[in-house]
Amino acid sequence: MEEFISDLTPGAEKPAIEMIGVNKWFGAYHALRDIDLTVEQGERIVICGPSGSGKSTLIRCINRLEAHQTGRIFVEGTELTADLRRIDEVRREVGMVFQHFNLFPHLTILENCTLAPIHVRKMEQAEAQALALHYLGKVQIPEQADKYPGQLSGGQQQRVAIARALCMNPKIMLFDEPTSSLDPEMVKEVLETIIALAKEGMTMLCVTHEMGFARQVADRVIFMDAGAIVEINRPEAFFANPRHERTRLFLGQIL
Ligand code: ADP
Ligand code: MG
Repeated sequence: MEEFISDLTPGAEKPAIEMIGVNKWFGAYHALRDIDLTVEQGERIVICGPSGSGKSTLIRCINRLEAHQTGRIFVEGTELTADLRRIDEVRREVGMVFQHFNLFPHLTILENCTLAPIHVRKMEQAEAQALALHYLGKVQIPEQADKYPGQLSGGQQQRVAIARALCMNPKIMLFDEPTSSLDPEMVKEVLETIIALAKEGMTMLCVTHEMGFARQVADRVIFMDAGAIVEINRPEAFFANPRHERTRLFLGQIL
């Protein structure tokens, strides 16, 4: 696979993401408990844990699809608060790919990829199209540009969703179980796309239970349970020597 473009400054200074004592409740339900997490520029983090443990909530707080109630979150040095102008700034820096691809069914693949660059980044149409074709080439489906999402396989749609996010030139990519709704034969092509992006130095957080992927690309693996980060470690240590009983139980179930 070809290289992805990345605009990371070498020796970058500020962390990509800082979460300090973050708590989040849904009504009375305590969904995130005292989350402390610093993600350095170019770091690749894999998050795993049982269903309902708060993985999606954690990454959704990073682009404020969910608002935290206490603690502080900084993204590329900007604090996430109720200030909408700043949220727009931050969302432009953070690409997100979901389990369900969330492509617009009535727009072509090319239009799906150019929509936000034209309307949010105010890019000229020709420039946005050239950029979209560039990233569709990177995810190896340039020939699908004029088709509609429904005409593509699940794996192809997910690669479009990745290309679409990259068209906004994000500094950070968040993936929420990007392969969980794919047929097994399509998981590999999507993981390879994400691996190529990781090798180019993109900062990323990926919620996944693909532990082979975690071993291959993660700088650190996080295990969450009941809204808390229970364990965070380099993959070698995480898998060889989980410190917590809950991590051991979880790994025993999925490996
Ligand atoms: P995970 O991604 O680890 O499966 P989530 O972050 O989606 O877990 O959810 C954590 C908990 O928060 C779950 O118990 C879930 O039911 C609850 N939750 C998530 N989103 C909402 C919401 N919008 N309203 C109420 N409860 C929610
Ligand atoms: Mg989830």
